[in-house]
Amino acid sequence: MRAEIIAVGSELLTPSRVDTNSLYVTQQLNSIGVEVFRKYVVGDRLEEICSSLELALQASDIVILMGGLGPTRDDLTRDAVAASLRLELRLDPVLLQSLESRFARAGLRMAENNRLQAMVPEGAATLENPFGTAPGIFLQPSGKLLFLLPGPPSELRPMIMHHVLPAICRLKTPRPRFTRLLKIGSEFESRVDEKISPIYAEYPEIEVTILASAGIIELFFLWKGEPEAGQAVSQLEELTRRIRGQLGHSVFTDQDESLEMVLGEMLRGRRQTVATAESCTGGLIGKMLTEVPGSSDYYLGGVVSYSNDLKLSFLSVDPDALRQYGAVSEPVARQMAEGIRERTRADFGISLTGIAGPGGATTDKPVGLVFMAISSKSGTACRRVQLRGDRETIRIRAARLLIDWLRRVLLEEGS
Ligand code: AMP
Ligand code: MG
Repeated sequence: MRAEIIAVGSELLTPSRVDTNSLYVTQQLNSIGVEVFRKYVVGDRLEEICSSLELALQASDIVILMGGLGPTRDDLTRDAVAASLRLELRLDPVLLQSLESRFARAGLRMAENNRLQAMVPEGAATLENPFGTAPGIFLQPSGKLLFLLPGPPSELRPMIMHHVLPAICRLKTPRPRFTRLLKIGSEFESRVDEKISPIYAEYPEIEVTILASAGIIELFFLWKGEPEAGQAVSQLEELTRRIRGQLGHSVFTDQDESLEMVLGEMLRGRRQTVATAESCTGGLIGKMLTEVPGSSDYYLGGVVSYSNDLKLSFLSVDPDALRQYGAVSEPVARQMAEGIRERTRADFGISLTGIAGPGGATTDKPVGLVFMAISSKSGTACRRVQLRGDRETIRIRAARLLIDWLRRVLLEEGS
């Protein structure tokens, strides 16, 4: 089943306001098996609202039009719908009464233009909006479902839950949605695709989407074929199993969970702890680890040893090593990891030192050069990586790489 979303509001066409409603609406529609086929952002202009509405109604079964239901002159959604569908707007006396009593209860006088909000296209049903004055409107032109909803997210969201989803489920039988997800750490998008595209090419009925962001790659699998449950499920299972086999330990989950959550569960299961010594990431790893509720079970804490002095005094980095190799070097990364492990008595001390840029580079130490180390009772390992991107990207990538490396170390220890 196909849906289209139209967001109305001239402010949404400026750089200062973003149409976030459509993301929420898409998520909710997807959850009941409705695909969003197209979406529009249009200004408060009659022609554009009409033309996008006509386009949407031609192609899809469900159209959600949001915004522009307010009482002011720039709120044209009602008029546009009436014009497009050649319906008259009529004053709904029940609605008017409830608007009037709403204002009366708040001890306010209702402005004359609020009466506009009681105007409804003939034949439409109204949808109660407990959090605002603009009611929703529901129409079924030529058997399609058309919803008009208020723009403020706090009003729109409850209306989606209480009116839109139930109406869709009642009036259409949404087809079940068969999806799978795999999340991958420390890999390049192109490398992942190279490895798995020969596999997924064998499954023309499964759509594969690859999304990469800051050190994590997500693979989405969506069954596009006929909804015979048996085949959809078995094909999705088979494809994801083969892809997991190909990617091995790079896949960290097939659930909607973060890398930090997965690492945390592993540490908790093993009753092991970790502590951090961060330089160029400035505490980012600590932040990421502590975003997971309950992380105090395994994360002891850490130090942002940004200055050389603190590396020396707090982590007992050897001054000769610092002088000879510099702060961004393998010996210093190793000693930072060992230092924090000794200081905190954690099972794992992990450390990171690098050049996040834009300044600070030398000929043999370019921007993006990062040394990271993991110290445990079985010794200390260090890796040198060369990352690309701006300062923020380098910091996030470096943090994720180290977290993922620790996850892999635990996996290998466990197997
Ligand atoms: P309206 O229903 O057009 O009067 O919208 C009222 C307010 O809701 C706007 O000023 C925005 O702040 C907000 N709003 C409207 N449409 C959206 C949207 N698509 N996404 C997020 N906020 C919105
Ligand atoms: Mg508006």
